[in-house]
Amino acid sequence: MSLLQVGKLEAFYGASQALFGVDLEIAEGELVALMGRNGMGKTTTVRSITRMLRSTRGEIRFDGKDLSVLPSFKAARLGIGLAPEGRRCFANLSVNENLMASARSGPWDIGKVTELFPRLGERMSQSAATLSGGEQQMLAISRALMTNPRLLILDEATEGLAPVVRQEIWAAIARLKQGGQSILVIDKGFSELRAVADRCVILARGQTVWTGTPEGLTREVETEFLGV
Ligand code: ATP
Repeated sequence: MSLLQVGKLEAFYGASQALFGVDLEIAEGELVALMGRNGMGKTTTVRSITRMLRSTRGEIRFDGKDLSVLPSFKAARLGIGLAPEGRRCFANLSVNENLMASARSGPWDIGKVTELFPRLGERMSQSAATLSGGEQQMLAISRALMTNPRLLILDEATEGLAPVVRQEIWAAIARLKQGGQSILVIDKGFSELRAVADRCVILARGQTVWTGTPEGLTREVETEFLGV
């Protein structure tokens, strides 16, 4: 059974329909890349899965449970941890307070996240507002990990970061995958995504238009759906 099963998903912002049939599956321990040009529905798919957007139709099952009827805090409790686009840490709280605010029991704790991101460990009492963009992204990922999620979702995992920091984030993602973490990741770094993903799912105009392994993602597919 899949950990996450999304089928024929449609989503609406008021009267405006944004998703027209998204199909997406994630097996336990799998890393799936959700790809597509700007505005194709990736973030809307994430908002639908996490139930931040509740105006949806179609199937969203997590560990066999019907998510489509749940509010977002219940989806989080079932084990979906999100590092959202734009990071959204509590700017006025310290790194430590940010981490503790999302902590739930399980293997991930302050010790483990600072092992993954040693720089955070050096900044525990600093307020999140004073962190660099890369450190804020490390904090956002760590906050999601502190919930001890069965599925970690990273929306725009490295957006706006310097190349050297992006490499650090990709290395951490690879480590998480090696540790068996199930991950859904969105990013504009297609080559980095392909290097780390087990499978790629491409959206165009709010629909799944291609699913396959990174090896199967040919230049023709890239040109047609990703504009590369
Ligand atoms: P990007 O890579 O630019 O973040 P995306 O693939 O994540 O793009 P979405 O942000 O999911 O795409 O947008 C999908 C569609 O939904 C777009 O047509 C967008 O204009 C629309 N949309 C997104 N957010 C809203 C909103 N809050 N209200 C109305 N329409 C929205």
